Amino acid sequence: MNKPFLAGCGTDELTFWCEKNKFPKFRSKQLLNWLYTQNEFSPDAMLNLPANMREALKNDFHAPGSEISDIASTSDGVEKLLIKLHDGETIEMVVIPADDRLTFCLSTQVGCPVGCYFCASGKNGFTRNLSAGEIIEEFMLGVKRAGFPDNIVFMGIGEGLLNFEELAKALNILTHPEFFNMSPRRITVSTSGFVPGMQKFAQLKREYNLAVSLHAVTDEIRAKLIPAKVRYSIAEILKAADLCRDANNRQYTIEYTMIAGINDGVDSARKLADIAINHHAKINLIPYNSTDGMFRRPERSVIEAFENEIKAAGARVTRRVERGTKESAACGQLRISRMKKS
Ligand code: SAH
Ligand code: SF4
Repeated sequence: MNKPFLAGCGTDELTFWCEKNKFPKFRSKQLLNWLYTQNEFSPDAMLNLPANMREALKNDFHAPGSEISDIASTSDGVEKLLIKLHDGETIEMVVIPADDRLTFCLSTQVGCPVGCYFCASGKNGFTRNLSAGEIIEEFMLGVKRAGFPDNIVFMGIGEGLLNFEELAKALNILTHPEFFNMSPRRITVSTSGFVPGMQKFAQLKREYNLAVSLHAVTDEIRAKLIPAKVRYSIAEILKAADLCRDANNRQYTIEYTMIAGINDGVDSARKLADIAINHHAKINLIPYNSTDGMFRRPERSVIEAFENEIKAAGARVTRRVERGTKESAACGQLRISRMKKS
């Protein structure tokens, strides 16, 4: 079943398909309009196309490939969408409205091969990569649900830079004027520090933002959080991140998931501030959301002391606003909880 996805197809592919199937050329324009103006990738809804063309599209493409199968919402408007893929696998995306902007958090893989000990996304291992078309469908399902976003963060399930080719295609579709025409400055790719992927990301030479999940100031502490199979040293990660900063012309963010008794000491805060200052980076503190009781979130006072120490050292720091329902606050948790139930 190596069918392409209709979502993400451009003028060339659609014109070629129309010619091959003896549909007039203007039909490809209508298709482009449905896809990238109306945000519709299901042929059944494309009512100005003839019925035989809609059937042919469904035969030749995954169209639609995915659908929303569950929604977990909170009172503050955050919605976590569980998305069922064409083969029955599931991923999550999160719609995060704030006063003046709408952010989408997107997944790039089914499961995660990195398997950080604290994260629900890698708990059941790794199943497969998402194709660019699936990432675009995920985005379009969000647009249909909540409108066009101001920002996109690739911080859902998976390590996007381990699925580099498909992620790069999806980034291109999101930013290309023929498709969604988003500014690369409004898109952030988060990585657990997969150095070869970061080097390729730098080669894109576009103004995407990079967020690096460092979580520790020494390699010893990092080893308590991230398994060895996809773990690079902090020095290598920072070198690759600097490469991205210089190529993309963007400061990067150091993400730091705070876990009680592991990485929350003030000495770590000072070292983290030094790293950020030396690399012209920003720090984002993420208070840990417990997934299975193995790790705990630090007390509020500990998080505050950590943040204040960084500020006192003169580094730029923000704290992730804690939102989302209890069972589904952290990425991958809704999917895992639904898998347990089914
Ligand atoms: N694989 C990429 C992107 C997805 S994870 C990466 O690791 O960066 C996005 C962010 O969510 C990472 O910084 C990760 O550390 C954080 N995260 C994962 N599980 C979490 C949890 N239970 N609580 C708080 N943050 C979590
Ligand atoms: Fe994968 Fe990121 Fe979760 Fe680590 S934190 S298991 S890299 S999704």
